[in-house]
Amino acid sequence: MLKIAYGVATDPGVQRTVNEDSVVAVARLAAVADGMGGHAAGDVASRIVIERLEQLAVGDAPIGPDDLLAAIEDANRRILDAATDEPGRSGMGTTLSGVGVASIGGSDHWVVFNVGDSRVYRLAEGRLTQVTIDHSEVEELVAAGAITPSEARVDPRRNIVTRSLGTDPAPQTDIWVFPPTPGERFLVCSDGLTLEMTDEQITGVLAEESEPQRAAEALVTAAVAAGGRDNVTVVVVDVAPASGMSELSIDTAPRPDRTPRP
Ligand code: MN
Repeated sequence: MLKIAYGVATDPGVQRTVNEDSVVAVARLAAVADGMGGHAAGDVASRIVIERLEQLAVGDAPIGPDDLLAAIEDANRRILDAATDEPGRSGMGTTLSGVGVASIGGSDHWVVFNVGDSRVYRLAEGRLTQVTIDHSEVEELVAAGAITPSEARVDPRRNIVTRSLGTDPAPQTDIWVFPPTPGERFLVCSDGLTLEMTDEQITGVLAEESEPQRAAEALVTAAVAAGGRDNVTVVVVDVAPASGMSELSIDTAPRPDRTPRP
């Protein structure tokens, strides 16, 4: 069974007084939610989904991908209900990105999930790759070839998400399922990190800090020092040593591709 070690860090940044990001890293699940909406409702929305996932992940049992999707749908309903109950909260919503351990055919697999523009990255053999695809206007422009990824980072439309929880009765969650590979590390983060740091800078910090808590704190500190224009939240996910990983072969473990499961 995979044993996970986490590092978690969050900071409101230098321009915002409220931290609307929420985060969970328990047992076999790590997730970040970036809330949005006026009147401090964003933190309500992000907390609702994170608390729902926390309930799901309690205990050591592997998480079924279908249970995960059902919990996300349930959280979505709860946000919509909470928005209806209090008029000041109408329009609140949240992103959600994370990684958990699911049992597929009796063996542990990673399950990565995403709605919105928080991200899950995977670091393996020194290379950082984004597993999730942003649901954002700039991502669509990049995919269409209209702007480059570096232009997207400074584009005024970069905050516009095209999918979120709490804004749609039936949101679609992207999900990726793939087997673990020895030595890999995951990063779950809100856009406050990627707004301030390039993938190269993030890779440098993750390579330098082997201990996950130190790595998470170093990333948040660097993002705040680089401008801290948004709330920044980070989870670094490592597989703890001596976890039965020797059963896996590096040669045969397929890499995650960029296509979400239908
Ligand atoms: Mn944000």
